[in-house]
Amino acid sequence: MSKINTELKDDPLMPLRHTAEHVLHTAMQLLYPNLKKVMGPPIGNGFYFDFDLDQKISDSDFERIESLMAEIITADLPLVKRIISAEDAKELFASNPYKLDTISEIESRGEEITVYEMGGESSRFHDIDLCSGPHAESTGSVKAFKLLSVAGAYYKGNENNKMLTRIYATAFDSQENLTNHLELLEETKKRDHRKIGRELELFTFAEEIGPGLPLWLPKGTIVKEELERWGKETEDKWGYVRVSTPIMTKRKLFEISSHVPYFEDEMYKVQVPGDKDEEYFLKPMNCPFHHMIFKSKIRSYRELPLRMAEYGTVARYENAGALNGILRPRYFVQNDAHVYCTQEQAIDMFVEIIDLHRFYYDALGLKDYYIVLALRDPSKLDKYHGNEEMWKKAEELSKAAMDKAGIRYEVVNEGAAHYGPKMDFKIKSVIGNEYGISTNQIDLYMPERFDLKYTDKDGQEKYVVVQHRAPLGSSERFVGFLIEHFAGAFPLWLSPVQAIVIPISETHLEYAYKVQKELQKEGLRVEVSDREDTMQAKIRQAQEQKIPYMLIVGDREAKEESVSVRLRTEEKPGTVSVKDFAQKAGKLSKDRSLTLW
Ligand SMILES: [Zn+2]
Ligand SMILES: [Zn+2]
Repeated sequence: MSKINTELKDDPLMPLRHTAEHVLHTAMQLLYPNLKKVMGPPIGNGFYFDFDLDQKISDSDFERIESLMAEIITADLPLVKRIISAEDAKELFASNPYKLDTISEIESRGEEITVYEMGGESSRFHDIDLCSGPHAESTGSVKAFKLLSVAGAYYKGNENNKMLTRIYATAFDSQENLTNHLELLEETKKRDHRKIGRELELFTFAEEIGPGLPLWLPKGTIVKEELERWGKETEDKWGYVRVSTPIMTKRKLFEISSHVPYFEDEMYKVQVPGDKDEEYFLKPMNCPFHHMIFKSKIRSYRELPLRMAEYGTVARYENAGALNGILRPRYFVQNDAHVYCTQEQAIDMFVEIIDLHRFYYDALGLKDYYIVLALRDPSKLDKYHGNEEMWKKAEELSKAAMDKAGIRYEVVNEGAAHYGPKMDFKIKSVIGNEYGISTNQIDLYMPERFDLKYTDKDGQEKYVVVQHRAPLGSSERFVGFLIEHFAGAFPLWLSPVQAIVIPISETHLEYAYKVQKELQKEGLRVEVSDREDTMQAKIRQAQEQKIPYMLIVGDREAKEESVSVRLRTEEKPGTVSVKDFAQKAGKLSKDRSLTLW
């Protein structure tokens, strides 16, 4: 267990990438003398820069841009910071309206104007740009870089502004690190959940329905519902009760929870026929509904902890630019539950919740996960409720629970909900991409807003503590994550088609159907490959569909009532009786095993 205080801005490669940015725009300026430099920040794994350019460029131009960049790097030019007056800055950048715009903005914020000068005035690569840094000392520190792609982007993201040319790139401190990163990008592309979702026919979207609103196809529905069945079975065993609540509510409920106004921008409003004055919302979260169920009767300490679960469907407005297949849709179903307990039970209950996460993630073979404790952003205190003592208490409880559970966590000074700190489980997929899957909270605020009380042993009425949890996240996001993690080769129990019977020739088709029927009796999902095609083609197709078992049947198998088993891993366990196969595969599936044989 370790605690690390992270500032997301503290990426050690940031100054180097910032420097590479200057190298890029200087090279661009030399190659396209008429362009106007706009701006560009370092981002997650690289950086981009926007140019106002009156001609189209494409990947095919990258080579000559990169070769000029390499010259600038070899020249090892220093970057020197200077603070200048707004007047001087305006004169210096008089011909660039974007820089003038930025200068006015800096001025209106009352901040210093800094420029970075690269190379001396005699240098062919001499350049001065408006920039607040930080940078590496000289261009030579950019040991490895690569231009990645080019795209259009509106100035300031506003479609009423001019469309600019944006170049995405990355830079590293060694060639080896760059190569590793490029390999990861390649692997990520291969595992892209939207691509695999299409190939395996898991989900789709329709323009007529709208962006961010996924349609689960039959095969994807199997994956989603198997996951949800597992969630429900597990919750049954862990002492949860299930509830079911409506998709919409009067405004009043969200006023009590104070999601209005804090969350209103992300909420869909519903027009009510017959009552123009009443405003309804689609629910962006289930919590307030569960609180109303808690409140629906008088509660005694004997009922606590009360674990209330629902696969609750929610709608949240996301900016079009943030949408990403089923990883970030606008409509999804959450593996949601709220645990109502006493203050004294709070830490142990959260330890139990962490254990539940561990149970799920271990069962899926996910090894690399930790918690980010998201606290308040000190510069935006108006976004949060103002009860300082309550914040302190909630932070203390959260930390104490994570310490007791012995789980690794990091503390970040941003990202808390308006009503309390959040504990986000971050999971890394097998190729190292990190996803926020499950959000948890120890909540002291909503019990007061909703007046959620119980009668204690001593006859006193006391506020409960509410714990929010969703270990399997939203089904959409979790399936999206699993697609990348398993590259579409889901564990047996989640595979939409678990086995495919492949007849050697048409004469074996009848036997193939018989095998299918036998296996279906064992609860297995089985298809018969009845297309007119060569065996090799059928095997290849089954392989592409990531079907765990290919069962080849010919004369011998028909006579022996057996199947010749081939796994999608290309292992060949050989010929087994239909009965034995049904039992073996049936058991592995029921046990939700990660192995196929
Ligand atoms: Zn810079
Ligand atoms: Zn909640």
